[in-house]
Amino acid sequence: MQPHALLLPYPETGHINPLMQLAKHLASQGILVTFVNTQYNHQRILQNNVGRLPADLGLPIRLLDIPDTLPDGENRDNDLYSFNQIILNIGPALENLIDKLTAAGEEITCLISDALAVQTLAVAKKYGIPRVAFWPPSGSAYAFFSHFVHAATQGTLPRNGLLQPDEIVSFPELPSVQGWKLPWLIAEDQAINEYVFGSVIQTMEVCAQSEWILGNCVHELEGSVIPSHFKRLTPIGPVLPSSTLQRASAKDNLFTTSLWTEEDSCLQWLDAQKPKSVLYVSLGSIAIVDKDQFHELALALEAAKLAILWVVRDDLTGEKGTQLPEGFLERTQERMKIVSWSPQVLVLSHSAIGGFLTHCGWNSSMEALSMGVPLLLWPQFADQYINADTLAKWGVGLKMTDARQKPVGRENITAQVGKLMLEHEGEVVRARAMEVRHLMLKAVEEGGSSFNNLQAFVSWMKALPS
Ligand code: UDP
Repeated sequence: MQPHALLLPYPETGHINPLMQLAKHLASQGILVTFVNTQYNHQRILQNNVGRLPADLGLPIRLLDIPDTLPDGENRDNDLYSFNQIILNIGPALENLIDKLTAAGEEITCLISDALAVQTLAVAKKYGIPRVAFWPPSGSAYAFFSHFVHAATQGTLPRNGLLQPDEIVSFPELPSVQGWKLPWLIAEDQAINEYVFGSVIQTMEVCAQSEWILGNCVHELEGSVIPSHFKRLTPIGPVLPSSTLQRASAKDNLFTTSLWTEEDSCLQWLDAQKPKSVLYVSLGSIAIVDKDQFHELALALEAAKLAILWVVRDDLTGEKGTQLPEGFLERTQERMKIVSWSPQVLVLSHSAIGGFLTHCGWNSSMEALSMGVPLLLWPQFADQYINADTLAKWGVGLKMTDARQKPVGRENITAQVGKLMLEHEGEVVRARAMEVRHLMLKAVEEGGSSFNNLQAFVSWMKALPS
């Protein structure tokens, strides 16, 4: 019987996208994939991928949906607390779905759910299905979380997960982290942050009981940071299809799980720019910058006098309808293209892109590096600080100076952009980013580390009783 994997992401773009890339790999290996989103996200994916859904492209991936438990009208777009609420309470809806599928005579070989979906282990056990955890963030974040949780449960670090802002915590092989950069600080309210740390503890414990933990990272880059006494994270990254990595993908054969409408006009705009001349600017799907910071950023990009493709999400400043400074569009239209959402993977693989000002979301980082694009590192919150320090250590990006300052001033931003795009420092990180691209390509080609890990995982799944 054909193996059947049920895949369940955390309900946020940065988790849905890489899990769908894994789904494509599994489908190409003859595994039947059922990909389950929340109803809200499912509808958005259908709307934003008209003509490019798996069924249109002949991919054996079935998209299904389940309800979430949030009341109507709650923020399902960019609120980490809401995302956590959804994923922490997903169990009953998942059970209903499995009941329906099994009543229809289907068998499920294995459940691959986001690492944060802690309830899914108990659900899988109830039905006698093996659970595999998918870990979209970096291997370094996995190691940091594991070390910190271990120390907090042993009592050598605070049990509530909080430190003084300037207190420094260091673990072997990892960049040290100051208290204000801890990944679970998502709110002003200490109780919320403690609650989030509580769910991090649960996540790491449940991950350790899963059959596998598959990570969107590369052994040659991050294999050494995870000590052997933690449950082994199996690197299978970058999880992009080889056609994309070879820059051979076209929009019409790319199903992207996009929750927003991608403005493809930016690809034509890029076609008209010189090679490596464009700075791409995006802070991902959920980071919010306040109005002052947004204003400084806008004026900094204007002053840089470079060709720039800038993703300005409608809710980038926290409320709908982000306002550019007065007269900005008129003053910059010669050299700047602004979109509300881009087809990012295609953008990054375009030869006109010369650098990326990024919030250091792990997908954005992996996507850029797999195309050899150097980075200007401007983390905003969550695991992004750990990612930024890791990327700086690899030599693939320059750091934003004074990133703790609120707002970071326009002169700082313009100066760093200039260094990345025009100066020797930029050339050095660009060369290193190309080296990392080649290393990543090797990892996913036949015989490479990620290729072999994925093959081992697929063989394991095919050998499971069904
Ligand atoms: N992305 C996109 N278009 C955009 C901005 C982002 O398609 O205009 C995609 C990007 O390719 C990546 C994801 O959104 O796959 C963002 O994930 P990441 O982990 O970088 O950041 P997050 O959004 O989770 O903070």
